[in-house]
Amino acid sequence: MACLNVDHVRPKGLKDAQGKLRYEHLIYRWDNFLLACVNCNSIKSKKDFTDDGPFLPHTHNLLFHVELGPNGVPRPRRSDKAANKAKAFLELVGLDRHPGHPRHTPADDRWADRMRVAEIAQRQLKHYASQKGVPRLGTILDLAGSNGYFDIWFSVFAEFPEVRRALVEGSTRQGLNVFPGTRRAAFAQADCEPLDR
Ligand SMILES: [Zn+2]
Repeated sequence: MACLNVDHVRPKGLKDAQGKLRYEHLIYRWDNFLLACVNCNSIKSKKDFTDDGPFLPHTHNLLFHVELGPNGVPRPRRSDKAANKAKAFLELVGLDRHPGHPRHTPADDRWADRMRVAEIAQRQLKHYASQKGVPRLGTILDLAGSNGYFDIWFSVFAEFPEVRRALVEGSTRQGLNVFPGTRRAAFAQADCEPLDR
């Protein structure tokens, strides 16, 4: 897995026409920091955007706007104008890149890592659908925790709200909370569908 970077939402290195740093006043502001993997951070680099631009992880529930496409590559989930903002986010950090994409580079292995985890999740889905039960849920949570990619597990188990709930809230029965800090209020109370917020 790629190591974590601290991304500056408004890029710290971007200069204006006079060669002055455009966001110098935001360089040490906590509200300008986001955690990102090294690939997302380096592709985003010095790109800037308007306030009306891409959905960002700290302003919008991206699970509502982005879904898992083929081979683990994320894509916009809706077809309304929100799709453009979801697409703008994926392009900002290059999460839409995979071999065959014009701007994909060999060093960027996010697609491969996501595909690997999507395959594990899909195998677990098959098992779960055929022998539903409490012991299997523990295995799913263990694998989700050790492999990461909340969005992949959440998408693959879309038909099983009890699994989604355990991913979001943890399972008291299993004694596992593999994605602590997940915001419960971002999901519907009854079926754990992501909410538009
Ligand atoms: Zn990333």
